[in-house]
Amino acid sequence: MKVTDHLNNTSKTLFSFELLPPLKGDNIESIYKTIDPLVEFKPPYINVTYHREEAVYKELSNGLLQKKIIRKRPGTVAISAAIMNKYKIDVVPHIICGGFNKEETENALIDLHFLGIENLLVLRGDSDKNTKRFVPEPDGHAYAVDLVKQVNDLNKGKYLDEELENKTSTHFTLGVAGYPEKHNEAPNMLSDLYFLKKKIEAGAEFIVTQMFYDNQKYYDFVKACREQGITVPIIPGIKPIATLSQMTVLPQTFHIDIPEALVKELIKCKKTEEARQVGVEWAIEQSKDLIKNNVPVVHYYTMGKSDNIQKIAIAVF
Ligand code: FAD
Repeated sequence: MKVTDHLNNTSKTLFSFELLPPLKGDNIESIYKTIDPLVEFKPPYINVTYHREEAVYKELSNGLLQKKIIRKRPGTVAISAAIMNKYKIDVVPHIICGGFNKEETENALIDLHFLGIENLLVLRGDSDKNTKRFVPEPDGHAYAVDLVKQVNDLNKGKYLDEELENKTSTHFTLGVAGYPEKHNEAPNMLSDLYFLKKKIEAGAEFIVTQMFYDNQKYYDFVKACREQGITVPIIPGIKPIATLSQMTVLPQTFHIDIPEALVKELIKCKKTEEARQVGVEWAIEQSKDLIKNNVPVVHYYTMGKSDNIQKIAIAVF
């Protein structure tokens, strides 16, 4: 079922979460261990992130560096299929521009369509760790909006090779990312909203936000989107702080602020478990307030572990 149908079929705030494919070498059981404690909260769908290949440099005995391309977290498509098969829960695999040309994207979309997947979160992806700015593949997409257009073309039966016969249309419902605190590359919020609106005009039907720790930022973002004529559901993304180091790592990585009150609680913590508990309590308060304000879904970033998300869900759903 489509994410938009799930949202339209209830007046209650829904619970959803996002999974990270395990590191290469690990097994699918680790995914099931993350999902199992959360199934009782009836997620209508589960997101599965996608991770592009990375270049790592290995020092050789002669002192030279050898470049090696590795994909640390493969398995998004297979995990999506396994979840549908085992739990009968819908999935929202993420697809990205980075590392794909249009032909490879089309083939990936055909796989997803054949598996019966109906929802996608369409993203650009970040630059690879060794380049400062995002560089598309030759004949790949530079922005998420272009990938939205490609999927939407396929939804209309328009393939790259226009001479194909018996063209089947896909039926993907698309979500895209939104940034309550602005995407780090955007020169200002208005410009970011302008391009967000382009993704909606190109066919995206819902937005999932970057994590935030001050709900007011989300409410202001929704208001600003509505003022710009963006009318689709905007799903808030919540990432409970799980370690003390995340207090500095998350702002650095995701370009978000941590409110002073939360920082004050975190710096009192001596152990990881204490910081994890502070993160849970903060996320419970955020979630309760969001639900009071009738958000369609509260979406949790698990980062591969669900004990903290389970505690939040027990308190909130
Ligand atoms: P875009 O919408 O393309 O925007 C990127 C930047 O370009 C923005 O600053 C925007 O304002 C600007 N822009 C957009 N269009 C234009 C244009 N035509 N001309 C000029 N500027 C433009 N990354 C992964 O690799 N895998 C994942 O699974 C993943 N999941 C995510 C889930 C969520 C909910 C979120 C919020 C992010 C996720 N990301 C993921 C991270 C995401 O890929 C990065 O934040 C990336 O830097 C931007 O992606 P985007 O889709 O928002 O890009």
